Amino acid sequence: MSGKRRNPDLRGQTFGKRKVIGVAPPVNYMMRYFVRCECGDVGIVYEKFLISGKALSCQSCSRRDRYRRETEEMVGRTYGDRRVLSVIDAPAGMKSRGHAYVMTECGCGFTAPVIASHLRKGTADRCPSCVGRMMRGARQAGRRVECVSCA
Ligand SMILES: [Zn+2]
Ligand SMILES: [Zn+2]
Repeated sequence: MSGKRRNPDLRGQTFGKRKVIGVAPPVNYMMRYFVRCECGDVGIVYEKFLISGKALSCQSCSRRDRYRRETEEMVGRTYGDRRVLSVIDAPAGMKSRGHAYVMTECGCGFTAPVIASHLRKGTADRCPSCVGRMMRGARQAGRRVECVSCA
């Protein structure tokens, strides 16, 4: 920690969604900065990551961006009986926080908004009336379920 100052530093510059707002204490002589993301998140980032473009948004923004990309890639795919028609905004009255919604069409023709991650997890692979039909069918079949690996 001699008085050697790197000049010019990156204060005031913007990298992706992040603006450099101050100089943070260095670690192992590596420059670090306080940065504020568009979303308001303040963090500390190594200068080299800013310059190389590896830290252009905060973790929650990059997670959200990745989530949105993954959701957009679902359009046209089929999950169980449901085909994804489009990415939609959270329907009014439904919890939107952190969730991406897609409009789906079930094999029976029923369209409904579904939380994208539920489709991917396989917990929403058919519409409620198809689930009801399946349950009735299972009951009628005496709940016998064949083991896939024995078949
Ligand atoms: Zn952010
Ligand atoms: Zn259905």
